[in-house]
Amino acid sequence: MQAKLLKKIFPELKTKVKIAPFTAFDIGGTAPFWLEIRDKHKLVEVIKKAQANHLPYFVFAGGSNLVFPDKLPKKIFICYRAKPRAGVTHFIESKLVYAEAGLPLAILVGATIKNGLAGFEALSGIPGTVGGAIFGNAGAYGQTISDKLVEIEIFDGQDIKWVPVATGQFSYRASIFKKKDWLILGGRWSLAKGEAKTLNQKSREIIKMRNKKYAPGIKCPGSYFKNLLASDLPKKVLKQIPAEKIIGGKVPTGYLLEVVGVKGLKRGKIMVPDYHANLILNTGGGKAVDVLALANIMKQKVKDRFNIKIEEEVRVI
Ligand SMILES: Cc1cc2nc3c(=O)[nH]c(=O)nc-3n(C[C@H](O)[C@H](O)[C@H](O)COP(=O)(O)OP(=O)(O)OC[C@H]3O[C@@H](n4cnc5c(N)ncnc54)[C@H](O)[C@@H]3O)c2cc1C
Repeated sequence: MQAKLLKKIFPELKTKVKIAPFTAFDIGGTAPFWLEIRDKHKLVEVIKKAQANHLPYFVFAGGSNLVFPDKLPKKIFICYRAKPRAGVTHFIESKLVYAEAGLPLAILVGATIKNGLAGFEALSGIPGTVGGAIFGNAGAYGQTISDKLVEIEIFDGQDIKWVPVATGQFSYRASIFKKKDWLILGGRWSLAKGEAKTLNQKSREIIKMRNKKYAPGIKCPGSYFKNLLASDLPKKVLKQIPAEKIIGGKVPTGYLLEVVGVKGLKRGKIMVPDYHANLILNTGGGKAVDVLALANIMKQKVKDRFNIKIEEEVRVI
């Protein structure tokens, strides 16, 4: 891929853009080719061109759940973040809400709370975009982005279309989008009527709790590993976990990691803090190679002690 040729296809293309500042982890090398996209129509146009010219690309959004490598492959990195006015449209009467995928999730959550619509308030404080949240079925405190989702607007490489929520195959931090190369362009939710004041109060309480785990400015991609479903665990392992730790059928991986003693582990500028065993922090200038090495040590310790495999919640690219 030559920059000169690529610029003919994409006049707005940039070269050699450092990707780390576009991620919550502040990690990753230099993108050889770079496009910043501000609305879904432009995104589809760019992807069609890339596909027609057989050009490899990678689309991401808020960068809050990603670990990019220190040396990025020769691809076009496409950062899709919509202008906030691209919008949330809410129809209070029918309680239907539409949001474009590239919109910050916080704007969608805030708009629904303000308009007295319940169903998103527990998602307060989750960084990233609406599309990123749909991709990973983001959730917290008993709510997920897919709970009230009715349909999803996608580009499947051929057509732009709306598909019903069932097509999304949502489960705990999983969706069909992790398996298919589809773009998420938007979503439509059907929310319940609530009281703005109460919803706002809940949202504030949640943000307060979250700020204890994720201090503002912290460099991390959220919880590193997925929690485990109690129903998936061998009885031998379950017996070793205090009943009060199992909430909503889930075993916090943080607990297992704490038991195996990962708190305080360090590798270069990367470390596991002493207050939460399922976090991997970049203390500044950290490298992906150290993140992966530390994550492997953590996995191995859990495997050695409990004979179970823990899986990344973050996307390692
Ligand atoms: C401090 C902190 C706290 C967090 N807390 C939570 C939490 O409580 N619960 C939770 O679930 N998550 C949490 N996360 C993780 C993260 O915020 C969510 O996964 C978020 O939804 C990711 O959105 P994003 O826009 O940043 O996606 P990105 O990180 O940019 O991308 C993630 C994946 O989604 C894909 N993607 C993004 N947009 C699209 C699109 N439009 N079409 C197709 N694919 C797309 C990308 O290719 C990538 O594979 C936290 C992260 C941080 C940093």
